[in-house]
Amino acid sequence: MLKIQNYINGNFHDPLSNEWLDNYCPADGEIYGSLPNSGKEDVDNAYIAAQSAFPSWSQTTLDERSRILTKISELIEANLDRFAEIESKDNGKPIHLAKTIDIPRAASNFRFFAHAITQFSSESHQSIGLDAVNYTLRQPIGVVGCISPWNLPLYLFTWKIAPAIAAGNCVVAKPSEITPATAYLLGDICNEVGLPKGVLNIVHGLGSTTGQAIIEHPDIKAISFTGGTITGAHIAKTAAPLFKKLSLELGGKNPNIIFADCDYNKMLETTVRSSFANQGQICLCGSRIFVERSIYEQFKTDFVNKVTQLKVGHPLNQDTDIGALVSKQHFEKILKYIDIAKKEHIILCGGNKIIIEGYENGYYVKPTIVEVTSNDCQLNQEEIFGPIVTIMPFDTEDEVLQMANDVKYGLSATLWTNDLKRAMRLSNHIQAGIIWVNTWMLRDLRTQFGGVKDSGVGREGGFEALRFFTEAKNICIKY
Ligand code: NAD
Repeated sequence: MLKIQNYINGNFHDPLSNEWLDNYCPADGEIYGSLPNSGKEDVDNAYIAAQSAFPSWSQTTLDERSRILTKISELIEANLDRFAEIESKDNGKPIHLAKTIDIPRAASNFRFFAHAITQFSSESHQSIGLDAVNYTLRQPIGVVGCISPWNLPLYLFTWKIAPAIAAGNCVVAKPSEITPATAYLLGDICNEVGLPKGVLNIVHGLGSTTGQAIIEHPDIKAISFTGGTITGAHIAKTAAPLFKKLSLELGGKNPNIIFADCDYNKMLETTVRSSFANQGQICLCGSRIFVERSIYEQFKTDFVNKVTQLKVGHPLNQDTDIGALVSKQHFEKILKYIDIAKKEHIILCGGNKIIIEGYENGYYVKPTIVEVTSNDCQLNQEEIFGPIVTIMPFDTEDEVLQMANDVKYGLSATLWTNDLKRAMRLSNHIQAGIIWVNTWMLRDLRTQFGGVKDSGVGREGGFEALRFFTEAKNICIKY
């Protein structure tokens, strides 16, 4: 059994209340460990540790911060297999995905911000005619809170922590209670590389208690949050009267728009991934697929054919394409959407759970393609966040643009066309923070990342993250 503890001031601690939560393995539905059900007192202790570390850490040279972040990155890489196996067990994702995407990206997050902080600069303005010069300091905020979801556990956790500490802040962080294991391992690595005690503190527990204590803490001055839209709205409401800086990366319902003039094979192969990678549990998955009518029937046949071949299996098997859904609760939510699909639409493939011999209580669902006739249905309007996509044909660019935007979310969109002008026109008008043309999930960590509408507020990535985790102070000197 894996017993996860809080990491506070460089040491591992049981929760003060001695209350524990069960940690489930989605592949077999069994409890395989426990994690702290931390309360306000644990968060207070984490805050005190962070606050004590801040004066020294915020004055640590950029070279030294960069050196430590680089070492964290190297140690994650050196422990790739162990991290990947635990991520896969904790989350249900195929081991090859954890090995090639999640864990390498967690290492890249630290390496990227180790470099970025040495290149981050602030502005100065000469006030001509007024005999003055203004310069801006970018100062760390102090103690900041980082709260992350379960779908890309270490990947998203480190995407927040790395820029926060690179910029000189100290952190109270909470991973999802559903996937706490790799965040727990990170504590050991931080100690091994000599990250000063208290710079990073990891507190485990439920959103409604541990998370709530972080967002309500009057002296945690910024919250970087990734998770659901409803939670994001609650955090915004709580944090606003406390005047906290907020970055909210929330849900999505992304369109994948396919024109007849695209590179068909590349599109087809990528669309299988953008629909079902990580069991469709990526906020960037293209869950609404719109296909130009002239290739619709062909696409339908080929897409169903490819998706039917995806192998659903135990996440630790090397040849598994689709692992287990993350939790029983999420599994049941997905099955409810399948019921809606059965009643209201045509299911082209999938549409059922799978029992795997030896793992009968695991949360397995066949990748499911549903044909819909309108964008105005529950399946196209609500974020499902699982292995279900819808497909429907369109006739004109105006029509598909209208449908792409007719949803409350605005995270990302994918376009498949070789008509450059059309790609530029649509990219200009699609309401989303991220648009991929003829590719999907190609990430350059220097670029801004975030959504519009109910998909969030603010941007992560590159210098945007370093700007978020610093306060600008302008100094005006008259000469
Ligand atoms: P969630 O909102 O339920 O939980 C996210 C985190 O918030 C967890 O750590 C949870 O414990 C914590 N939390 C819950 N209530 C809280 C509270 N009152 N105060 C403080 N913290 C609280 O989301 P989830 O189910 O873990 O993740 C799935 C969602 O995340 C989906 O909607 C998905 O689209 C979204 N997501 C968005 C992005 C993005 O970059 N925009 C990336 C990944 C996932």
